Amino acid sequence: MYHAGRGSEPVMVVGSSVRAVAVYIGQLRGDATSGWPCDPQGMPELPEVEAVRRQLEPVMVGARIARVELRRPDLRSPFPRRFAQRMQGATLLALSRRAKYLVASLSSGDTLLMHLGMSGSFRVPHASDGGDPHDHVVFRLASGIEVVFNDPRRFGFMDLVRTARVDQHASLRGLGPEPLSAAFDAAALARACAGKRTSLKAALLDQQVVAGLGNIYAVEALHVARLSPLRRASTIATAAGAPREAAERLVAAIKQVLEEAIDRQTSAPYRTDRFRVYDRERERCRRPRCPGVIRRRVQAGRSTFYCPVCQR
Ligand SMILES: [Zn+2]
Repeated sequence: MYHAGRGSEPVMVVGSSVRAVAVYIGQLRGDATSGWPCDPQGMPELPEVEAVRRQLEPVMVGARIARVELRRPDLRSPFPRRFAQRMQGATLLALSRRAKYLVASLSSGDTLLMHLGMSGSFRVPHASDGGDPHDHVVFRLASGIEVVFNDPRRFGFMDLVRTARVDQHASLRGLGPEPLSAAFDAAALARACAGKRTSLKAALLDQQVVAGLGNIYAVEALHVARLSPLRRASTIATAAGAPREAAERLVAAIKQVLEEAIDRQTSAPYRTDRFRVYDRERERCRRPRCPGVIRRRVQAGRSTFYCPVCQR
C-alpha cells in the first residue's frame, strides 16, 4: 500500500492483516473495520502475496543489501545459521513468487525464501518512524533505504537456501503449476483432475493440482465458471484425461478472479463488494437474472459458498 507519508507514518506498508496496520490502512480508506481479505484461518491469499511482491520489487530488486538486522532468533522457526551475514553485501537479482512464498534470488548464489504467515508485513519507514516491537527483521539497503519485516504473531517464515536447490525446498517441492502461468491451462487442469473422485472444490485446494489458489478464490472461480463445488473433479475431463469445456471455463475463471483481486490490492479503490459469492450465505445470487440463493457448505473443513441454481 503506497500512501503519502505524514510525520511518523510509514511511507509504505505491504503485507497481510496485521491488525494495527490493517486498521490504519482501513482508516485511510474511510473504513476502519476492513483489512486485507483473509479467510477465517487468517492466512493472506495468493493475490495479497502477489501484491506485496509487486510493491517490494521496485524497492528491492537491483539493490545491494548493506546490512541485515535480526531482532530475535526466530519467527515460526529459527533463522538458519549465519542468516544475516550470508546476505550482507549481496545484490537482490529478482523477486518472484511461488504459491504464497516470496522468492528473492541474490547475487551470492543464495535465495531468500519468505512467507508472511498470518500477520507478516513489510514497510519502508520514514527516518522519523519510531519502530515497533514487532519489527523482527530489518534489511538496510546500500542506498540507505530500510525495508522492515513486522510480524506480531510470528507465524512468518524466512529461510536462505542455495538458488540451484530452491525448487527442492520442503515448502516448494511437489507444488503444481502457478495458476497465473501459461503452464496452468485447461489441459493441465483436466490431466490433474482426471480420475479424481474428490469434489471439484477439494481438487482446487490440492497444491499438486494448482499452487496456492486458496479457499476464497476457489469458491469465487467456481461461481464465475458456473460449476458446482460439489461435482466430482473428474467430470471436467474426458475418460482419456482431455479437457472438457468446463475445464476451459474454470481455468479462465481462476485467472480472472486472481487478476481482479491483485488489481484491487495494487491500484483500484477499495470496494466492499469484493466477493461475488464468498461469505454471502442466504443472499441472492449476483449473476444477472439468476433467481438462486447462496448456500454455505463445509467441505474438508473449509466453508464453500455456491449458488445451487447456476452452478452445476
Ligand atoms: Zn446463481
